[in-house]
Amino acid sequence: MKQKKFILQESEIPQQWYNIQADMVNKPLPPLNPATKEPLKAEDLFPIFAEECARQELDTTHQWIDIPEEVQEKYRYYRSTPLVRAYELERALDTPAHIYFKNESTNPLGSHKVNSALPQCYYCKQQGVTNVTTETGAGQWGAALSYAAKVFGLEAAVYQVKISLQQKPYRSIMMRTFGAVVEGSPSMSTRAGKDILTVDPTHPGSLGTAISEAIELAMTTPNCKYTLGSVLSHVSLHQTIIGLEAEKQMALADDYPDMVIACFGGGSNFGGLAFPFMRHKILEGKKTEFIAAEPASCPKLTRGMFAYDFGDASGYTPLLPMYTLGHGFKPANIHAGGLRYHGAGTIVSQLIKDGLMRGVDIPQLESFEAALLFARTEGIIPAPESSHAIAATIREALRCKEEGCGKTILFNLSGHGLIDMTAYEQYLAGDLRNYSVTDEEIATFQQDVPVRL
Ligand SMILES: *Cc1c(COP(=O)(O)O)cnc(C)c1O
Repeated sequence: MKQKKFILQESEIPQQWYNIQADMVNKPLPPLNPATKEPLKAEDLFPIFAEECARQELDTTHQWIDIPEEVQEKYRYYRSTPLVRAYELERALDTPAHIYFKNESTNPLGSHKVNSALPQCYYCKQQGVTNVTTETGAGQWGAALSYAAKVFGLEAAVYQVKISLQQKPYRSIMMRTFGAVVEGSPSMSTRAGKDILTVDPTHPGSLGTAISEAIELAMTTPNCKYTLGSVLSHVSLHQTIIGLEAEKQMALADDYPDMVIACFGGGSNFGGLAFPFMRHKILEGKKTEFIAAEPASCPKLTRGMFAYDFGDASGYTPLLPMYTLGHGFKPANIHAGGLRYHGAGTIVSQLIKDGLMRGVDIPQLESFEAALLFARTEGIIPAPESSHAIAATIREALRCKEEGCGKTILFNLSGHGLIDMTAYEQYLAGDLRNYSVTDEEIATFQQDVPVRL
C-alpha cells in the first residue's frame, strides 16, 4: 500500500525558524518613518510591538533564529502537521503530477495563524507586557491570538470588523471562549472609533478602522502591545516552521517539489511554506517554481504597483516598500476574507521584483469549484482562502496532463472552512459571483500612494 501521510516525531520538529532576509541577494528596501521618510530602526517599533518581534522584523543578517523553548513546547501540542499525498485528487484530475499538501488546518484553531500568535504572545509576556490587542477580519487571527494570549497569561482585546462580527458570529464566540474581549469596530471604546461613528453611526467597519482602534488602544494603555497576523516579516519568519517541517516530510516521501503553491493575503502562509524551499533556489540554484494565489478581485501581486505605501487604510503605520493597490483600495466582499488586503509585504515584493516567484489571480467561482473537488476527493472542507491555492494547483496539474510531464506540486492547506459554511451554502445555491476590477479603478486608488519608486 502506498503511504499517504507523513508525520514527524516530536524530536524531529525544527527548533529554529528560517530568516530568508539573511540570504536574499537584494535585501528588501527598509520601511520608512512616514513623517521624516528616514529608514525605521527596531527601537522605533518598540512602543507598538514586542521588542523581539521588532528586532526580527528588521533582521537581515541572522539566517536561523532559535524558537524559544516555551514556544516549542506549545508547538508540540499540534505539530508536526501532516504532509499528505492527494492521491484521490490526482485520480480525479487524471494527472501524472504528484500532488502533496501540508495540512495546517489540523490544530483546534483551524488555521496556520497560531504558529505566529504563540511566539508573539510569548515575547510580550517575557518583557513584562500584560495586555495584547489586535484587529481581525473574518476572525482566524483573532481566535488564534485569543488562545495564545490565554496560554501565556495575557489579557487580549480584539477589534473585529463590525459587519463580519455580525455576519459570522462563531469566531467571536471562539475568541470569548478563550477569554478575550471582542469589540465590533468601529466601537465607542477609542477616540478613532468615536470619530468614525460621529460622522457615520452605521459604519460597517473595515480592517482599516479595526487596525486604527487596536493601535490606539496599545499606545494609550500601559503594558499593552499590538500584534499582527500577516504582512510583516517577523510573522512570515514564525510561519517558516511549516516549510521546514515540509522539507523533512518531502524527504520521507522520497520526493521534492518542482512547484510550491500557497494562497496569498499578506503573505504569511505563503512565506511560511515557500521560504525554506526558496533558500535552495537562492543558494544552490534549484529550479523550483513558487506561485502565490491571490483573488482576482484583489490583485496586488499581478496588477499592483511597487511603491512605498501604508500598511493600513488610515495611514497610521510606517511606509512599507511593496506591491500595492493603494492603501485606500476597497476589495469586493468575497468570502476569502483573509485575502482582502491591498499590499504584499516587503520580502515577497522584493522576491517578485527579482523573478524568484510569481503571483496568479483566481476568480471567486473557480476557487469554490476547486474547494468542492478537494472536499469530495480528499474529505476536507477547505477555508475559502486556501481554496485559491487548490485552484492554482489544479491549473498546474491539468497543464502537466496536457504536456505529459510528471511534476511534483506541493501546496499549503492554510485552514479548514468549517466555520465558513454560509459561504458554501451561498455557492451551492448559485448566489456567488465573480468580481473584476478595472485598471482605472486600481489607478484611482494608487493616486494616494505616498512614495513612488
Ligand atoms: C489569514 C489567512 C490567510 C491569509 O493570510 P496570509 O498571511 O496571506 O497567509 C490564508 N488562509 C487562512 C486560512 C487564513 O486564516
